[in-house]
Amino acid sequence: MEITCPSCGARHNIQAGMLSVVCEYCNNIMKIERDEVVETGQKSFILPFPTVFDVGKYFYVIENKKSNDKLFGKNVEYISDKELYERKLKDYIAKLYVYGQIRYTNDGGFWDDWFVRILENKKDIDRNKNFVIKENEGLINIQYISKIQEDINHEIFSKSVGLSYNGYFIQEIGTASIEGFKGDFPFFVDNQDNSKYVDLVAQNTTAEYKIIGNNTLFLQGI
Ligand SMILES: [Zn+2]
Repeated sequence: MEITCPSCGARHNIQAGMLSVVCEYCNNIMKIERDEVVETGQKSFILPFPTVFDVGKYFYVIENKKSNDKLFGKNVEYISDKELYERKLKDYIAKLYVYGQIRYTNDGGFWDDWFVRILENKKDIDRNKNFVIKENEGLINIQYISKIQEDINHEIFSKSVGLSYNGYFIQEIGTASIEGFKGDFPFFVDNQDNSKYVDLVAQNTTAEYKIIGNNTLFLQGI
């Protein structure tokens, strides 16, 4: 679907089902309602921070035994398509496309969620799944979006740390605010929205519930 930014006139090609779009040229926040662009009158900015990821770009996951980041039980490294070309690497575990970034902030600092599609891969995983890479002080945790619930899941947010829930333990419950976002999202995002989250752990895996606007996202480790 093609839309036009009402603020600067730039054209954007967005995937069906996207509900929030930030113009990459003028940072204007648009909402999509019934295939029409709705102006919010707001802009979204994210201060640059050194990272391998960027919205609108492709990345590769390669094996690197020295890395602490894990994917499919392997120690992996995330590199840009430029680096894959420069290092003449032919073998990779997965190819990613980053379509969105949300920057969160709270008393503990800030972190980024990168919304990612896996375009092709050399492992048996569902290529239609959408993934979220959480990058916090250089640590990377990848989960897939298991469910987007279009209301707030009060059940999980009434629990306490240390309790078990559906086979997981509740490790942390917290609140962060959305400092800014970039790209396209299949739900409404607002600047300055407070986002509650619950981090869950189980043996060898993690999960997370998070509220964005009026939606509850359920993320599961892979
Ligand atoms: Zn624009």
